[in-house]
Amino acid sequence: MKPIIAIVGRPNVGKSTLFNRLVGRRKAMVDDMPGVTRDRNYAEVTRFDRPFILVDTGGFEPETNDRLLQQMREQSRFAMDEADLILLVLDARSGLTPADEDVVEMLRRVDKPVFFVVNKVDGDRQENAAGDFYSIGVDRLYTVSAEHNRGIGDLMDDVMEVLPVDAGKDEASDVTRIAVVGRPNVGKSTLVNRLLGYERVVANPTAGTTRDAVDTRFLCNKKPYVLIDTAGIRRKGKTVEKVEKYSVMDALRSIERADVVLIVLSAEDGVTEQDSKIAGYAYEAGRGCIFVVNKWDTLEKDNSSMGKFVEEIRRSFKYLPFAPILFISAKTGQRTGKIIAEVDLVMEQFSRRVTTSELNRVFSKAVEEHHAPMDGGRRVKFYFATQVGTKPPSFVIFTNRPEGIHFSYERYLMNSFREAFGFNGTPLHLMFRGRD
Ligand code: GDP
Ligand code: GDP
Repeated sequence: MKPIIAIVGRPNVGKSTLFNRLVGRRKAMVDDMPGVTRDRNYAEVTRFDRPFILVDTGGFEPETNDRLLQQMREQSRFAMDEADLILLVLDARSGLTPADEDVVEMLRRVDKPVFFVVNKVDGDRQENAAGDFYSIGVDRLYTVSAEHNRGIGDLMDDVMEVLPVDAGKDEASDVTRIAVVGRPNVGKSTLVNRLLGYERVVANPTAGTTRDAVDTRFLCNKKPYVLIDTAGIRRKGKTVEKVEKYSVMDALRSIERADVVLIVLSAEDGVTEQDSKIAGYAYEAGRGCIFVVNKWDTLEKDNSSMGKFVEEIRRSFKYLPFAPILFISAKTGQRTGKIIAEVDLVMEQFSRRVTTSELNRVFSKAVEEHHAPMDGGRRVKFYFATQVGTKPPSFVIFTNRPEGIHFSYERYLMNSFREAFGFNGTPLHLMFRGRD
């Protein structure tokens, strides 16, 4: 997740001036995100190659004309809950006010870095006056002029030093991890052998001989892949008793470690209860998913066989409408050559990042075309959306009613994202956050 920096402070202290300063005026013009709120109050900023999300909490207009103190408390609570780092802006020209002190008191209790920024220090004269602010009892004050770009560099140097690093959860890895899962006898080990090339697997001394999970690396078109727990799959394929024991748990363990899951079905049997369990787990685990209908060679086919099977899959796995379906025969090799290409496509979407501005263009259009239903008589307002991760693509949407978003509206938003961006083969993860 990209870290979030929130700017809080009374009206008129210079929050939006500081915001624009940090975003860069020119960029602010070019990157303008037609807001879900009218005001632009957030931006993705990159400093020293490190991206973070900057939020001007002053841009969150409260629904009612609350009193100043109330508004400030809400802003601060938002920052305390959602931000990784907080910039409290104070105004050197107006001095310390009771509202400032109230916020300082709140922020004292938060276990996150807080920077106290005294703005409008345009020259040395204000520098001296700024000393008064030490009465709030902090170790370090940053005196800046947002308007004249004074002290901003020093402030941001220190900010970047304590800002949490975006862990990025192994996104750099270019290896695609594939799990092959399914009921006993659907043809998993036959398929694994097909994918790896029979010779090579036979030459692998550990495969099939150990009870430990053995992952097999292989190259296809010079790209690296890992097949997860090939030993387990092959072992279970070998003896009758083990075949029966292949449990959903085995599938779960493999799915946990995968990027893309091949959910193997048998054309002979159609969709069964156990297939649903396994596929449901792959979905909930948030993995890229591909249906592989094996033993296609066994069917007496006519023109409608494939269409009928597709229908059955779509009906049985309503939550996986985005998963591609392949019809293969592991035994004859029919269409098995297409599997890795499909894995590549899914992996690409599973790892995909869209820009914050693209995302919000689509998001605000979706919200405008179809408003969220009221939540207990309250209007649901959205502020902005940001992609916070990949594998699967994950989004945070800021709203005044995070608990009040109906499941069907969440699905509507997901579908809008899919319509605009594709995201074939991958689940999406939406999180609603915020304050009113
Ligand atoms: P916000 O309500 O906290 O977002 O404050 P604004 O950014 O809108 O600024 C309020 C006023 O203070 C504007 O007239 C700005 O031009 C002015 N201002 C902001 N930063 C500075 C500064 O560093 N020096 C001076 N002298 N004025 C500033
Ligand atoms: P696993 O238990 O899922 O690993 O299944 P196996 O790979 O051991 O296959 C179970 C049985 O189905 C074996 O007898 C395979 O030869 C057979 N089988 C696997 N794939 C196919 C296929 O595409 N077509 C046909 N006709 N039989 C297959």
